[in-house]
Parts: sequence; C-alpha cells; structure tokens
Amino acid sequence: MKIMKFGGTSVGKPERMRQVSQLITKDTEPKIVVLSALSGTTNALVEIGNFISSGEREKAKEQIEKLEAHYQSFISDLVKGEKALAKAKAIVAEHFEFLTIILRISFSEALNKDILAQGELLSTKLFSVFLEENGIDHMLLPALEFMSIDSHDEPQINSIKNKLGQQLQQHKDKSLFITQGYICRNARGEVDNLKRGGSDYSASLIAAAINATVCEIWTDIDGMHNNDPRVVKKTVAIEQLSFEEAAELAYFGAKILHPASIWPAQFYKVPVKLLNTMQPEAKGTLITEEAGSVGVKAVAAKDGIIAINIKSSRMLLAYGFLRKIFEVFEKYRTPIDMITTSEVAVSVTIDSAVDLKAILKELEPFGTVEVEDNLTIVSIVGNELVQTRDVMSKLFDALTSIPIRMVSYGGSKHNISLLIPFAHKIETLQLLNKGLFGLE
Ligand code: ASP
Ligand code: MG
Repeated sequence: MKIMKFGGTSVGKPERMRQVSQLITKDTEPKIVVLSALSGTTNALVEIGNFISSGEREKAKEQIEKLEAHYQSFISDLVKGEKALAKAKAIVAEHFEFLTIILRISFSEALNKDILAQGELLSTKLFSVFLEENGIDHMLLPALEFMSIDSHDEPQINSIKNKLGQQLQQHKDKSLFITQGYICRNARGEVDNLKRGGSDYSASLIAAAINATVCEIWTDIDGMHNNDPRVVKKTVAIEQLSFEEAAELAYFGAKILHPASIWPAQFYKVPVKLLNTMQPEAKGTLITEEAGSVGVKAVAAKDGIIAINIKSSRMLLAYGFLRKIFEVFEKYRTPIDMITTSEVAVSVTIDSAVDLKAILKELEPFGTVEVEDNLTIVSIVGNELVQTRDVMSKLFDALTSIPIRMVSYGGSKHNISLLIPFAHKIETLQLLNKGLFGLE
C-alpha cells in the first residue's frame, strides 16, 4: 500500500483536482491519498480566527462570505451532474454554516482549531464527490478518528497504527482511501492540527503506521533543488538524498517538505518521493536510507536567526559551564541550532525571539552576553562532507566577500553551517551556486 499526499496547489483548482484523480488511478496498487486544503484556504481560516479573536466579527463575516463564494464557483466547475452538484453544495453549506455559527460563540483556542480544520474537511469531501461522480470507487477515512497527538503535541504513533489498522481492516474490499492531512485530535479529544504545513507530516505518519511501500509527496516543484530557485537563476533537482540530508535541508529552509515529516518515514524505513503534479513524468527526489552519492548536494538558508554570545573568564578550564547555559534554553523550550565555542566563550543561535528577554536575563550571571539578530544560517548539505576533498577551500574561496559570523563543521557528516548577516544571503547563495556546483 502506498501513500500519495497532494498539497494545496495540487488541489487548488478544479482542473488540478481532476489531474489528481488521474494520478491516483494510474496503477492498481492500494493507496491512501492525503489531501491538504485548497491553496489559500488555511490562510483565510487563520485570518477568520484572528478577526474573531480580536472581536472584529464583521471582518470575519466578510472573509467567510468571500471564501464561501470561492467554494461555490470551485464546485460548479468541479462536478458536472445535478446530483453531484447538490451533494457538493450541501457540503459547502454545512461547513460555512458552521463557520457562521462560530461567529456567535465566544472565542477560544479550541474553537480556533475547529475553524482551521474546515479546509481539509472541505477538500477531501469535495474530492470524494468528484470521484463518486466519475465512478472511481473509494472510501473517505476521517483523520479525526485515527490521527492523534499527546499532551506535548507529539503524534501517538502506536495509537495511530492501531486505529488506522482497524479502519482499513473494516474496509478490506476497498483499495483507494482518501483522508485529511494536517488535522488530528489532541490529548483532550479536541480537534487540533499538526501545525502549518503539517499535511506532509500526516502523510509520513500514515506511511509509518501502515508500513507503506512509499510515501509520495506531490507538490508544484519537481523535487528538492540544490539551491533556492527564488534567488538563484539556475538550480537543479536532487535525484537522491538520505533521510539525514533531507532532514538538514527541510529544516534549513527548503520549504518543499515539512521538517517533522522526515522522522516517521526514516524510523519505519519508508522511502519518500517528492514529485511534481504539474510535471508528473519528472523524476523528482527520492529520499531513502542511502544517500546515493558522495559530496555536496545542496545549499539552503534559514532567516530570522539570533546569535547569543556568552563570554566569561570563568569558563576557562571550568566544567559544567555549558550545561548551565543549555539549561536556560531548555527551561524556555527554545531549541539551539548552531553552537561554537572557544576556551572562554560560547556562541549559540536560536530562531525564536519569543522568550529572548527572559533567556538573556538568566544568562547574565554567567558573563558578558551579546546579542545579534537579523542573521541567516546557510547550510551546505551532502553526504560524507568531512571526507569530501576541497569542500572547505571551495567554500571559503567562494565567500571571500562575505562576513561570516560563525562556522559549524564536523557536528554531522552531512552538514556545514555558516552564520551570515541576512543582508548577504542572496549574494552568498549565488556565490555558492557557482563555487560548489559550477552553476551561475
Ligand atoms: N492546510 C495546511 C496549511 O496550509 C496544512 C498543509 O497544507 O500542509 O498549513
Ligand atoms: Mg506544504
């Protein structure tokens, strides 16, 4: 059984949805199809929630009406017959009625999660009506009945396995299942979600839970590229990556795959394929345990980085110093991305300023603390980089004009990270495209 996940743009227009139906019926392998909300919907729902929470109900109402009109025109193009159209209309009416009722209820975080869930519920139900109209036998699997997270927002893989397994067992005669990405239930049993972009994570969790043959992630780009196509003219798709390499890339800005979606597939050894709905014949990127080849494969960048430098002569020959510093970050549940140390100083980077003030206050007793923000981590990812000849010399030769603030090398065999001012990001990516890949 395989998993095919389609993102918002892949289902965002009626003709795209029709194309998805072709892609999922190309072969007879049993499959679970995971859908995102139509592109733009989750953003609109976020806005609706924000308006309601700030008491701007009129604006929320306007946004709801606008979104409903969008769905009305979407379905009138999607389905042909009167019966199917009536069904689709009833679905749209049901979900927008729900949103309208919410306008009258006092706002809560739980209610907001209900609002956010409407997108995936709509896309899957409408797709199901379309499939039915076209005589494509399938079964709608409600994600809220098997996808769950615990009180730390971590997916409960064993429970997902059991519940999904039971559902599939009950419908042994079916070979095509459609379900929602992103949405789940939390430890209190309320509707919740796997955070923005979480449909990839859903797909990977489902793939892990049923030990799928492959987890295909269909988007609008032909795989992970060696560099950021938005700022570099010539980029190429990477054919194969190891899970480790993909994890580094997904975290460091390659927006195509949600970073958390790597671990379930990796742990349960399910290969992941990144494919392009607009160009289904393109090879895409295959992510497996094996890296496929040695050497540098890609560079990626992550913005909004803050560096904190703690300098203290007490660190000289002391032990336990780093632990105390790390404990401060742990207390505020703030992950550290990069670290460099010297005998008397340590620099770390974080990507969230939420608790920065409190963190700095607690670090003060340890020494002189300096902060620099508006930085970017540029990450060079590949296989066995440490053993690859010339990587470091090529890197520094290419970047003579860039004021590099920190370098992290050797922590992983797959990654070299550089910290640079955000203002130099585009130039850095362009210089590396030439220096490391020979591409302009
Ligand atoms: N619809 C959700 C979002 O836009 C989840 C997803 O598409 O992955 O974030
Ligand atoms: Mg996505």
